[in-house]
Amino acid sequence: MSLADGAQGRLLAGDTLTKDDTSPVTVADFAVQALVASVLADSLGAIRMIGEETSDDLASDAQSALRAGVTSLVSNARGSATAERDVLGWLDLGDATTTEGRVWTLDPIDGTKGFLRGDQYAIALALLVDGVVVFGALGCPNLPNADGSRGALFVAHGGGCTVEAGGAPAVPVRVVSPTSLREARVCESVEAGHSDHDASARIVARLGIDAEPYRIDSQCKYGAVARGDASIYLRLPTRPGYVEKIWDHAAGAFVVEQAGGRVTDVDGRPLDFTRGRGLSANRGVVATDGRFHDAVLAAIE
Ligand code: AMP
Ligand code: MG
Repeated sequence: MSLADGAQGRLLAGDTLTKDDTSPVTVADFAVQALVASVLADSLGAIRMIGEETSDDLASDAQSALRAGVTSLVSNARGSATAERDVLGWLDLGDATTTEGRVWTLDPIDGTKGFLRGDQYAIALALLVDGVVVFGALGCPNLPNADGSRGALFVAHGGGCTVEAGGAPAVPVRVVSPTSLREARVCESVEAGHSDHDASARIVARLGIDAEPYRIDSQCKYGAVARGDASIYLRLPTRPGYVEKIWDHAAGAFVVEQAGGRVTDVDGRPLDFTRGRGLSANRGVVATDGRFHDAVLAAIE
C-alpha cells in the first residue's frame, strides 16, 4: 500500500496516460501490478493472474518516461535495482484470460479517478479456484476510520473477514443491519458514469431512506458494507452492454460475503466469476448486509 500511497502524493502530468477505452492510468497502476505479481511469483513459483494492466500501454517510445517511472517505483519498493524488462515481464504475468484452475485477479489501483483526485482508491487482490473466490484482500489506504485515522486492510479467507485499521491489529468484521430499512445507508460510486445516480435516488426514495448516499470511489464501498459504515452498495448500469470487470469485484464481493453480507447483480443473480475477464452473465451489482437484500432487489425491479 505504501508504494501507491507515496505515488499518490507526487503524481506529475507525465505520470498518467489515457488508455484506448479513455480511462486514466497512472505510474502507480503499472508499478503496483508489477510489484504484486513479482512478490506472488517469488513465493509461489508459476502463477496465473488476470490483472487490469498490460505492458502494451507502455510500449511506445512516447511512454519511455512513464516506463522509467514505473521501473523506479518497483525498484524502490523491492529494495533492489530492477531492469525495466523484468518489470514489464512481471506486469504481463497479469495477462491470463480464463478462470479455469487457480487464478489471481488484481486491480492494482481500483478507483484511479479517486486516486487522481486525492480521494478513495483500493488495491484489490483475489484468488479463485475454477471461478470460485477463496481469498480476497482489499487495501484501502485512505479510508476514514471511526477513530479519525485513515487506512484499512480487509482480508477474507473463507473463515470470515478481518480488518486492520489505523495501525491496530486485525479484528473480525461483520456487516451491520440497521433496525429498519429507512435507516440504511447507501453507498455508490462518485462517478455518475460508473453507476446511475438518478436511478439510485429513485430506489432510495422508494425504500424510504432519507440519508444522502455515501459516495466513495473503488471497492472501498465493499469494505464500507463489510464493516457497517453502510449497509447497501448499489452499482446500477449506466448503459446497456457494459460488462463489469472481474478485478473490480472478486475481492470486494468476497469481503462482504465473508463478513456475513450478500452480493448479487441487479437481477438477483449471483456474480458469475467463471467467465474470464468480464462478468458477462451479470448486470450491475447489489451488495448488502443480507437482511434487506430482497427488499432492495424488489425496489430496483
Ligand atoms: P468506482 O470507483 O466504483 O466508480 O469504480 C471504478 C471502476 O469502474 C473502474 O475500475 C472501471 O473498471 C469501472 N468502470 C468504468 N466504466 C464503467 C461503466 N460504464 N460502468 C461501470 N463501471 C465502470
Ligand atoms: Mg477498477
